[in-house]
Amino acid sequence: MAEAPVILWFRTDLRLLDNPALHAAAAKSRHVIPVFIDDVKVGRALGRASLWWRAASLQALDAALKQRGSSLLFFEGDTQSTLEALVQRTKATAVYWSRNYDPATLERDKQLKSLLTARGLEAKSFAGHLLFEPWDVATKNGGPFKVFTPYWRSCMSLQPHRAIVATPDSLAPHGLTSQPLPRADNKDLAAHWTPGEDGARARLQDFLDTALENYAEHRNIPALDITSRLSPHLRWGEISPLTIWHAVRHKQDSGDIGRNDGDKFLSEIGWREFSAQLLFYNPTLPDTNLQTKFDAFPWQDKPDLRQAWAEARTGYPIVDAGLRELQQTGFMHNRVRMIVASFLIKHLLTDWRYGEALFWEQLVDADPANNTASWQWVAGSGADAAPYFRIFNPITQGQKFDPDGRYTRRYLPELQNLAEKYLFSPWTAPQDVLSQSGVKLGENYPYPVVDHREAREQALAAFATLRSA
Ligand code: FAD
Repeated sequence: MAEAPVILWFRTDLRLLDNPALHAAAAKSRHVIPVFIDDVKVGRALGRASLWWRAASLQALDAALKQRGSSLLFFEGDTQSTLEALVQRTKATAVYWSRNYDPATLERDKQLKSLLTARGLEAKSFAGHLLFEPWDVATKNGGPFKVFTPYWRSCMSLQPHRAIVATPDSLAPHGLTSQPLPRADNKDLAAHWTPGEDGARARLQDFLDTALENYAEHRNIPALDITSRLSPHLRWGEISPLTIWHAVRHKQDSGDIGRNDGDKFLSEIGWREFSAQLLFYNPTLPDTNLQTKFDAFPWQDKPDLRQAWAEARTGYPIVDAGLRELQQTGFMHNRVRMIVASFLIKHLLTDWRYGEALFWEQLVDADPANNTASWQWVAGSGADAAPYFRIFNPITQGQKFDPDGRYTRRYLPELQNLAEKYLFSPWTAPQDVLSQSGVKLGENYPYPVVDHREAREQALAAFATLRSA
């Protein structure tokens, strides 16, 4: 008798290599039915950049499946009824998927699992999105870690124990039809990124060959472009963190790179793990302050100021350059994200949720855990709180991390000819310097929307109210 089909329900694991759910499905049956369901009722609506990325990634996955004899089925609508209809159509006896850890998905999966099991199907979720399952890393008292350093130390003592699983060589054709895959139309983003598993692997290889050896020293310098840019690929599971882990360890063990560079890079992957476990244990992370005393914070939320920030018109070049990078490429370097976020929260006293929502809309790597955990970290309202009195100075941060101004000039060509001395505070330049550089403040580049010193004093006063809260 022919083997009963297994439905492989793809979600944020859009890859064939090291996909334990797919591997198990292919081991169980020759008849694997790959499906993606776009259920807009579950979780937060995707932003513009994420919709583009996902569409392109689904096309890449479909092409990879076709190379192996199969293809991706795509449906829009309710997950439960779509899966039930597919079970009926195919006579599948099992549904497999890779686990996610955000509250909306977890709740839906739990209900679905009991429903499918009650109908006599095997419904099984697999690890693969993270190196460590959130519940596998615990403090001595058995609870979750709240601070990154001891969390990652604990992870390092565990080490990932799952082995990488291979891509199935071939998959039987299923002969089924579905709705057409969504179109991916965005020439601007397509000029910067190659969504899909091949793009992810090429990016990893390039990073390992050319940049990892200087990662620890240079990762904070945005002009050097040496970080991996794997974040959107990880977001959609086009590459597994375990594949990255082993590739880095291999490079370290063969003596190609220093121990420190590899360890530093893996600890950044660790921040992704940490954020995922924060969300898992704190389902309200995306919209409520983890530290409730922040609920009383005196945000000023001035619409004209936050609009200037959103449109990259703050008059502080390192902030505006970062926001332009985001507008043009769907990405922003991590150091600049911190400066830009700190400016919104501390200089403009704007609720972090406003910035989080803009990033969610525009980032190609917009991630339910990483984005909210990072915004709360910058605000100081998160678990691993940064000291509130740390208020980044956008002038000295620019000078320190973009010392020759290359990054800032790349995104602000109107300041192309302004000397480094004035680049991060154009309003301090003498009029003749501005004229010679072609900078007309208030015309082709704005005056600063707030005065740094005054804003700093105001922020300190606002944050001081929390001490008594
Ligand atoms: P690399 O330096 O090469 O790091 C490797 C990988 O580690 C990244 O791809 C990412 O998956 C992970 N990582 C690195 N730093 C962090 C971090 N601080 N927190 C969590 N994971 C990290 N990252 C996202 O993936 N999605 C987001 O929506 C997101 N929003 C952010 C918002 C703010 C305000 C800040 C300050 C940071 C945010 N980050 C987010 C974290 C970080 O900026 C990006 O992961 C990083 O810039 C991606 O570039 P990369 O792949 O070249 O990083």
